Amino acid sequence: MNAEPTTVSVVIPYLNEEEALPVLYERTCKVFDARPEDVEFLFVDDGSRDGSFEWVCRTAERDPRVKYLKLSRNFGHQAAITAGMRHATGAAVVTIDADLQDPPETIPDLIAKWKEGFEVVHAIRATRRGEKGLKKFFAFAFYRIFKKITEVEMVSDSGDFRLLDRKAVDAISSLREHHRYMRGLASWIGFKQGSVLYTRDPRYAGEVKYTFKQSLTLALNAIASFSGTPLRLIFYLGGWICVGSMVGAIASWIYHFRTGQPQHIGTVTLAFATLFITGLQMFCIGIIGQYLRRVFDEIKDRPLYLVQSQNF
Ligand code: UDP
Ligand code: MG
Repeated sequence: MNAEPTTVSVVIPYLNEEEALPVLYERTCKVFDARPEDVEFLFVDDGSRDGSFEWVCRTAERDPRVKYLKLSRNFGHQAAITAGMRHATGAAVVTIDADLQDPPETIPDLIAKWKEGFEVVHAIRATRRGEKGLKKFFAFAFYRIFKKITEVEMVSDSGDFRLLDRKAVDAISSLREHHRYMRGLASWIGFKQGSVLYTRDPRYAGEVKYTFKQSLTLALNAIASFSGTPLRLIFYLGGWICVGSMVGAIASWIYHFRTGQPQHIGTVTLAFATLFITGLQMFCIGIIGQYLRRVFDEIKDRPLYLVQSQNF
């Protein structure tokens, strides 16, 4: 029997990457020339204003493996990845940055792991070359904190370079939430998760497209979408302030009556009373937060579970 070769889709979201795209394409072609799998390129134009899209159109004309989507404006990296994944047809889908920070030569490692049976394979950055100290520090701190406060097992130091099996792609595509943090969702869906290490190269050409503000928004989005800890924090903090201020007030009354010290008991009581009210308000906001969290979860409408396999 002559089985059809499997197809691996490579989804490439890009914003003004005209210098990097041809090199990425060449290097990826070379990788797949040496492999039994077929490749399907899916270039997603996220509102580019340079010649990137024209290059993609020209390439698509001479290479039938090249497909493209052009979004009507800049919707952001995460939306562009989502669009690409929804239209990819391969048995596995690799998402990769266009700026060559993720070397396409790592794709065979991802595929090898997939062939071992892993349905989500994260590429983990062993080192980050060419990134500035502060960004590295923030990324390091973010992943550590994020991992601590999320309810789902998350991998640290993975970007949006990963391979997803068809099952995983379909699962993620079925999620309807708007604020999409793909790294989180790729972990959240479960299935068999694996990872490979790679060295993150410096950007090939052009400017970083993620501004500091966008990175911060992504980080906040990640926390708000995957963790209820900040809300719980208000709840507990408020509660503890209430308890602490009551204990403080009682202690100072006892001290006052025992020693008969001429201290300003009225002022002290007032101070603790103010603190108590503040704590009570925080506590109440925390309660509202707990309900809000549930409303938020209902609205996100993630499935309650996903099935990996069944025998009926
Ligand atoms: N990108 C995009 N839309 C955006 C911002 C970025 O499609 O609004 C693409 C960009 O072209 C690149 C990838 O997302 O292929 C990662 O962006 P960048 O290299 O600027 O971010 P970093 O490497 O710092 O995470
Ligand atoms: Mg980059």
